[in-house]
Amino acid sequence: MIIGVLAVQGDFAEHIAILKELGVETQEVRLPHQLKGLDGLIMPGGESTTLSRLMTIYELREPVRAMAARGKAIWGTCAGMVMMASEITEQDPVPLEIMDIGVLRNAFGRQVDSFEQDLPVVGLDDPPYHAVFIRAPVITRVGEQVQVLASLPDGRPVAVQQGQLLATSFHPELTSDTRLHRRFLDLTSWASSGQKA
Ligand code: GLN
Repeated sequence: MIIGVLAVQGDFAEHIAILKELGVETQEVRLPHQLKGLDGLIMPGGESTTLSRLMTIYELREPVRAMAARGKAIWGTCAGMVMMASEITEQDPVPLEIMDIGVLRNAFGRQVDSFEQDLPVVGLDDPPYHAVFIRAPVITRVGEQVQVLASLPDGRPVAVQQGQLLATSFHPELTSDTRLHRRFLDLTSWASSGQKA
């Protein structure tokens, strides 16, 4: 199995370190040809306006959208989740529209722009997942095909799945808990086995 990590900006190195720890082959993705032969793709956190611009410049938008359409597993974390959305509350960045969710950027204001929260996650056993939020987005709308995996105590969703697509507002690559990365690898195997033609 080869997992690509979008490496144009943000904390791609941390995702790669966890995947390596789990014994998975990885590929840094900066150009479209580096998407070939991948089983899954992670889009990391960072700054979504920059991510959006660089994806346009490096002509990565259409190939990543095509990957999603072919049924490949894709996981967006934080700014990467913003890129997954079908709509966001601002005009910039321009999301890829591959997941049926609405997203609000920087949803927690300046005072609490970073915080940590223990979250129960659907499909993960105890203990709850220790989630790190950094100037995080929240999900404002979920489509009918979207399952909410985790929400904040006030009910706002922060982890969602739609088929082989996963999105989290927080940063699983910044903790030593590898459960969500392992879950994404399971999702990738499942998606690869039922690959659409
Ligand atoms: N606030 C950033 C954005 O909207 C996301 C922050 C992050 O990825 N940690 O692009």
